[in-house]
Amino acid sequence: MTQLTCPIDQSVLSESKTSGEESSKCDQCGGVWMSTYAMDSLEDNAASDDMVKGQRQYGKHEVAHCCPHCGENMVRFRYRGYNLEIESCPTDAGFWLDKSEDKKIRAVMSKRESNFRRAATAERTWHRERRGDKVGIFQRVKELLGFHSS
Ligand SMILES: [Zn+2]
Ligand SMILES: [Zn+2]
Repeated sequence: MTQLTCPIDQSVLSESKTSGEESSKCDQCGGVWMSTYAMDSLEDNAASDDMVKGQRQYGKHEVAHCCPHCGENMVRFRYRGYNLEIESCPTDAGFWLDKSEDKKIRAVMSKRESNFRRAATAERTWHRERRGDKVGIFQRVKELLGFHSS
């Protein structure tokens, strides 16, 4: 079995649990490698129902950190358009989270879920009012969901 190394400081990663999911942790910097499967599971647990999760990666760009999985340069992106940048394997085998970023992801997922409920209520209200300002409501729903316009 090959040992995984930290993309930041090249320390050997050790097996660990992150928010209850299988992961590999760097004792040096506290960063964590999670497989895509574990990440899906973390998100499912943070969001209690079958909420549509949508696009995960925004503003992708390559960084000079070697993926613990394949050794290729990792891709850095804004997690679901939120102000939280994480890195992933270029072939989507997994994700690299800096220290405590798994908690931020859990927070984003639960916030997003309540935003979905609020957006649904806002849209019902709008349909009753029939003001016909479709662009406006779409923009408002997007803002409620936490998307940035850039
Ligand atoms: Zn490290
Ligand atoms: Zn990789």
